[in-house]
Amino acid sequence: MDLPTAFAAAVPLIGWTTHGAWLSKRLATARRDPLTGLHTRDGFTARAHRLTQRRPGRTSVLLIDLDDFKATNDTYGHAAGDAVITATADRLSAWCGRTGIAARLGGDEFAAIVLDAPARLPGLRATLNQPVPYAGSMLPASASVGICPIAELPVVSLTDALRSADRDMYAHKRDGRTTRRR
Ligand code: GH3
Ligand code: MG
Repeated sequence: MDLPTAFAAAVPLIGWTTHGAWLSKRLATARRDPLTGLHTRDGFTARAHRLTQRRPGRTSVLLIDLDDFKATNDTYGHAAGDAVITATADRLSAWCGRTGIAARLGGDEFAAIVLDAPARLPGLRATLNQPVPYAGSMLPASASVGICPIAELPVVSLTDALRSADRDMYAHKRDGRTTRRR
């Protein structure tokens, strides 16, 4: 094959390779939340199935939602709200460690999959409720955390685990509201 012919044959290949690299970069971007750097719901789901199947006896799915977060935005501004979301993401991610994963599902809602979570839950609740330093002052932070140990499910299913963790999270949110009103 002469040089011009070889070049002509290589052009579509280069095009496809570039397109493939662009696509995988787009996919990676879609799987990371731009504000926090955590997995998005898609990134989380892609990894979650593998994690929940690996050690179902020791694995839990967690759902976390900030409490009265709209009031934080309304009182201190949207940028301050972003600081609370980012701090929550950093705290959750640090708590998950290297064996777990954390995700921002959207808005002020987060999820995690971790090993041996029940014993460590009080530590997570304590860290997520710490005030957040922002522009020289401290912003209030409060989160409701729900948990579903995979071993409690009749069948290992991410959807069922998230639904159960969501129910548990809302039960804690209701309790928190009652306690705050007292
Ligand atoms: P609840 O205690 O029932 O969870 O009430 P809440 O005030 O936390 O309200 P909710 O969870 O329903 O709403 C979350 C709010 O988060 C709604 C939206 O204004 C705000 N929000 C969503 N995404 C962002 C974001 O990226 N940055 C900021 N600053 N706010 C956001
Ligand atoms: Mg909320």
